[in-house]
Amino acid sequence: MNAPNSPTKGTSTALYVLPELPFAVDALAPVMSPLVLELHHDKHHAAYVKGANETVARMQEAEPWQTPGLEQSLAFNVGGHLLHSLFWTCLSPAEQRPEGQLQAAITEQFGSFESFRKQFTQALTTVQGSGWAVLSWETSAQRLVIQQIHDHQGGHIVSASPILVADAWEHAYYLDHHNAKDKWADAFFTLANWQQAGARFSAMYESA
Ligand code: MN
Repeated sequence: MNAPNSPTKGTSTALYVLPELPFAVDALAPVMSPLVLELHHDKHHAAYVKGANETVARMQEAEPWQTPGLEQSLAFNVGGHLLHSLFWTCLSPAEQRPEGQLQAAITEQFGSFESFRKQFTQALTTVQGSGWAVLSWETSAQRLVIQQIHDHQGGHIVSASPILVADAWEHAYYLDHHNAKDKWADAFFTLANWQQAGARFSAMYESA
């Protein structure tokens, strides 16, 4: 379908594209099994990318009186795609701790890394239904906040930019940890990529 001079190269002209995992599918084992990672990326994340592109196409084709409901679908699927894209960068095979500016900001905001970890774990393990625990930079008040995002979009603070996101949907942990959400929280802290989170935070903090 591409015109000869189309600026979009390749076979896909989709708005939203599934990113590759930034590590091998077995790189996080045994903390996160290859099966969970593969299903999560290749099936769940891929479904949100497909859903986002299909919703955009339906919105473009629909008459104005046919769009109610599509906005919800757009928020859900685009949110799902972006949160998962971020989530892969929040995981690392090597255990890390926050450093530099982010470490200082966490200590200032939460008292210590341990009390931050307790609060984030609480957010992750008490999500009702499906959702996310998110450490964000709230740009209006210029402070770190821990948010619970329901599904992929509900309850999100509009001025908050995510720094570190943890998936609290059952598909993220159930095959590895069954119903033990606290075990998944411990596993997440073993995997948390603080280097990437710190780089994201510094870019926001320094431009504030
Ligand atoms: Mn997920």
